[in-house]
Amino acid sequence: AKARGRDNYQFFSDEMNVELTRQLAMEAELRIALQQDQFELYYQPQVDLNTGKLIGYEALLRWIHPEKGFIPPSDFIPVAEDSGLILPLGEWVLRSACQHIKQFTERGLLPKDGHVAVNISPRQFHDANLVTVISDLISTTGIESQQLEVEITESLLMENVDSTIATLNMLKQLGIILAIDDFGTGYSSLNYLKRLPIHVLKVDRSFVMDIPKDKDDMEITSAVIAMAHKLGLRVVAEGVEIIEQADFLKENQCDFVQGYYYGKPMSVADLYENIRNFDQW
Ligand code: C2E
Ligand code: CA
Ligand code: CA
Ligand code: CA
Repeated sequence: AKARGRDNYQFFSDEMNVELTRQLAMEAELRIALQQDQFELYYQPQVDLNTGKLIGYEALLRWIHPEKGFIPPSDFIPVAEDSGLILPLGEWVLRSACQHIKQFTERGLLPKDGHVAVNISPRQFHDANLVTVISDLISTTGIESQQLEVEITESLLMENVDSTIATLNMLKQLGIILAIDDFGTGYSSLNYLKRLPIHVLKVDRSFVMDIPKDKDDMEITSAVIAMAHKLGLRVVAEGVEIIEQADFLKENQCDFVQGYYYGKPMSVADLYENIRNFDQW
């Protein structure tokens, strides 16, 4: 039996073991991080291309580990998602964002018709409590529901189409804004998109990053913008880093932009220091 146990052990590659151990360790650290408040929300400006004015922000989660320092969301979100910790973590994100919306509005850092966009992961979106959690947060913080925008990814839309549409409809009923994130990276059909009760489409950074060098990306981007407008959607282009990209997007009637060219994600303290009033943006 001992010998067989050994064989079984060797069946798993060392890499698999290392990866599993890493995930379990991170899961334990995520639990502690939640208890000890090691998370912070950063905010990246979104700008109206026509007026050049600030229209809102995307909230982006940061984990500042006491010893390891900054851990990127691409490292820990998948672990939070797999372990289910995304539910308490996602609720923390929503609550913090709603509290910040209140503060930003009071300080003149967010126009009344502006918004903060929050990322919702697939597991969180399919959780039965999501709509109640959001509706309670809107009433307890006293924000306008249209000041909250939720971003869901295209891939999420492929599973459980009917329940996805039902949840989107309930959220829309609350008055919050619904956005499809990373558009173009998944495989949803245009016909399908037409059925969804959404307001905003975010063109993925991968289409924007090689403008103006990549002519195909330029064709795709302008076609996506035109198609979205035909469906009555507003378009946000993400990952805008240079003026040539901003100019191209403006020429092609893109509504809103987000990217390093306009501003990196910043802490609330930085935001208070750098953005004194949205009117002066
Ligand atoms: P995302 O939702 O697509 O967010 C945009 C990412 O692009 C952010 O990375 C942002 O910092 C980065 N970015 C923005 N402008 C530029 C630019 O001009 N150039 C380049 N190179 N990058 C730019 P970040 O903050 O590392 O977040 C990565 C991903 O982690 C997000 O992608 C999102 O999927 C996920 N994420 C972040 N916060 C949350 C959260 O609160 N909840 C959930 N479920 N996921 C989150
Ligand atoms: Ca996003
Ligand atoms: Ca995105
Ligand atoms: Ca992305």
